[in-house]
Amino acid sequence: MIRTRFAPSPTGYLHIGGARTALFSWAYARHHKGTFVLRIEDTDLERSTPASVDAILQGMSWLNLDYDEGPFYQMQRMPRYKEVLAQLIASGHAYYCYASKEEVEIMREQQREAGLKPRYDGRWRPEPGKILPPVPADIQPVVRFKNPIDGSVVWNDVVKGTIEIGNAELDDLIIARPDGTPTYNFCVVVDDWDMNITHVIRGDDHVNNTPRQINILKALGATLPQYGHVPMILGADGERLSKRHGAVGVMQYLDEGYLPEALLNYLARLGWAHGDEEIFNMDQFTEWFNLESISRSPAKFNPEKLNWVNQQYIKAADNDRLADLVRPFMEKQIGPLATTPALADVMALLKDRVSTLVELADAAHLFYKYITPDAELLAQHLSPEATTALQQLTEQLAEIDWNKEAIHDAIKATVTTSGLKMPKIAMPLRIIVAGVTQTPSIDATLLLIGRETVLERLRGMLG
Ligand code: GLU
Repeated sequence: MIRTRFAPSPTGYLHIGGARTALFSWAYARHHKGTFVLRIEDTDLERSTPASVDAILQGMSWLNLDYDEGPFYQMQRMPRYKEVLAQLIASGHAYYCYASKEEVEIMREQQREAGLKPRYDGRWRPEPGKILPPVPADIQPVVRFKNPIDGSVVWNDVVKGTIEIGNAELDDLIIARPDGTPTYNFCVVVDDWDMNITHVIRGDDHVNNTPRQINILKALGATLPQYGHVPMILGADGERLSKRHGAVGVMQYLDEGYLPEALLNYLARLGWAHGDEEIFNMDQFTEWFNLESISRSPAKFNPEKLNWVNQQYIKAADNDRLADLVRPFMEKQIGPLATTPALADVMALLKDRVSTLVELADAAHLFYKYITPDAELLAQHLSPEATTALQQLTEQLAEIDWNKEAIHDAIKATVTTSGLKMPKIAMPLRIIVAGVTQTPSIDATLLLIGRETVLERLRGMLG
């Protein structure tokens, strides 16, 4: 049974990189009909906040990344970590170290001066026949893991291939602080073990933790999970993704008018590929997803590409759903919307022309909020000949069947009889009826605004 987990630290919103890691872990579990666990790594009391926990849960829920177990909170598992700590001390895999912070600093300084890599020198590490220093009365000890000295840690990373780290490079990691609280790497190990995680899929900023975690797992006699370290997401300039590159928190994409399935589709393609497939839904993705196809090199975040993907999803979306999604954006700006035209009809007319819901809302405003056109603007576009032609058109519009073809024919006939060019008629018509210079096709626009309103505005302006 495959069991994966997403283990964010609640020190900020769910960012793009985290969401993609979550997506890959989720998809792997779903592909294998396994279990996806959510674990909140909240032991960094200074940086963790309840607001961040909420933001992460909200982000997961908006993206529809459902988890089968959790959320588990590490702060609620303290007794368990302490139990395992005691177990490691009892089995001789961990030991108390009474070296004070200052002492360790001096040790490091001396090593630096000697041209060595600064590391703990193992002075409290028990060895057969070794005499340890006398225990100082005034020092609360830390607990250190007794890392093997010889050999190396090797794992076959499902993304990066075989990785080997010599134990000589790893010193004895602190696994509990002087106040007895366990440290980050230790909690992760106990959790992955207790939660029977089979595949640890995470960002490659954790590669350095992995050999330490593997050694602790081995000391516990645990079965090792498989590890897959996913390369970073970079900005278009090759730098680590940051606010400079646009939105980094997933909920900001909601505010900016992206559909969750579009963002997921885009993230799925960021560092993973299935041939040339660009647009696919999450059922297809979970069917196709495999760890081997995750790219070994960092992916670049491309906002234009995301816009393009979002555009495809908006085009294909159901009009009623779009109306529901766009309404809040519109009402925030112009208050409650009139019941006609039906917002879904407006969506149908506009959805091929935009790449975000915000653009869709902006384009839809003219159907609900009429701004009397600026007299000067109108004067620029409305010739005396056009005035006459539009007066005639007004009378025709009052008579015809109110449908797109008939409106189209009436406008065309006006163009023909007046001898004016289409823009000379269409532009002032647009300005008068819609209040703006740009609209979707003029016939469709008139149709949706409705006969009564169209006639009222034309008569009002043309006299
Ligand atoms: N809590 C870590 C982070 O947010 C992830 C740890 C892990 O996946 O092992 O970066």
